[in-house]
Amino acid sequence: MKADLILYNIGSLVTSREIEKTSDMTNMENIEIIENAYLAVKDDKILQVGKEPIPKDLVDSNTAMVDVHKKVVTPGIVDSHTHLVFYGSRENELPLKIKGVPYLEILRNGGGILSTVRATRKATKDELIKKAMDTLDRMLCFGVTTVESKSGYGLSLEQELKQLEVNSELNKKHPIDIVSTFMGAHAVPEEYRDRPHDYIDEIIKMLPEIKKRNLAEFCDIFCEDEVFSVDESRKILTEAKKEGYKLKIHADEIVSLGGAELAGEVGAVSAEHLMAVSDEGIKSLKENNVIANILPATSFNLGKNYAPVRKMIDEGVNVAISSDYNPGSCPTENMQLVMQICSSQLKMTPAEIFKGVTLNGARALTRENTIGSLEKGKKADFIVYDTDNLNYIFYNFGINHVKDVYKDGKIVVKNKERVY
Ligand SMILES: [Zn+2]
Repeated sequence: MKADLILYNIGSLVTSREIEKTSDMTNMENIEIIENAYLAVKDDKILQVGKEPIPKDLVDSNTAMVDVHKKVVTPGIVDSHTHLVFYGSRENELPLKIKGVPYLEILRNGGGILSTVRATRKATKDELIKKAMDTLDRMLCFGVTTVESKSGYGLSLEQELKQLEVNSELNKKHPIDIVSTFMGAHAVPEEYRDRPHDYIDEIIKMLPEIKKRNLAEFCDIFCEDEVFSVDESRKILTEAKKEGYKLKIHADEIVSLGGAELAGEVGAVSAEHLMAVSDEGIKSLKENNVIANILPATSFNLGKNYAPVRKMIDEGVNVAISSDYNPGSCPTENMQLVMQICSSQLKMTPAEIFKGVTLNGARALTRENTIGSLEKGKKADFIVYDTDNLNYIFYNFGINHVKDVYKDGKIVVKNKERVY
């Protein structure tokens, strides 16, 4: 078969395909990296990848040939944890945070997540779409081609539906693929402050309403001290599973509550944050094949501790890395900064980081058969970095090194400019 497009003269091609592990390699490092490579595309899929020379039978007079001048090529980044759709911003809290005012005090005075809930409830669908489209454009320029997007700033059936319908519109309008998650259990809304149990009943009633409109694939919950307890989380997630949702849990972010253990127990696809995960929790993730989805830019922004990622990797847990883009704890679209934090603060190697933002990101969204690595038949979502080697991406930090982005085989960012 002839290719429509071939990238050639690739210095390092990170295919993210799993290879046989050697003794000096962690489970997170077993990905294929080919030097002097080519990548062939047919329609919107990968046709073939390999070491040069390019096989003659791939090329005819209609094949577009692109010389990438020895640069780095990787799969598109999968950002598998974001709170993409919201209105307003919270920079007014910055002076309070700098002075050390505790988050719970900001929350009691009407700030924090509940101020975003108020702004999001007031916003129209069109306003939410416009704001999120701008955010997605920035993410795309940083190399992101798939984004998970959670609701959870509506906190009533009508308002959660509005947020989830925005996800569905964004998926149609923007080149980035959107994976939609219902997170009505993000916080207890103000009107339920004195009767939180009634809100849990309300969430359980929302589950079938959202599912029958096919607006969310996953259900997520904020299992945390003073938010939703382990028992409450179990109750909601068990109901969600019966309704056909795949599960995620914001687990052990601040307090070691047993969220990771619960993730294993209920068969969650991924557990998120995990800064305070216990040894038992790590065991549960490993034994039940739960992806540990770490969000290190949140720790960085809040000046807090990081998830014990080296320990999780040593125990054989599969780790994904995401931005946690949200208006409170992590307002950044820059996944490369997130990757650079993994290098400098978490001591992860480039191979581990690329696996975390590609193949394991896809696993955290149960999309590993279609995205996350560059191999025959998968989506032609890939990025060209303007660096000569992998290390430079982490060495020259805080910088966007992504030059070109291809989505479904078409160029959507060229020389750092959006061209879709
Ligand atoms: Zn989150």
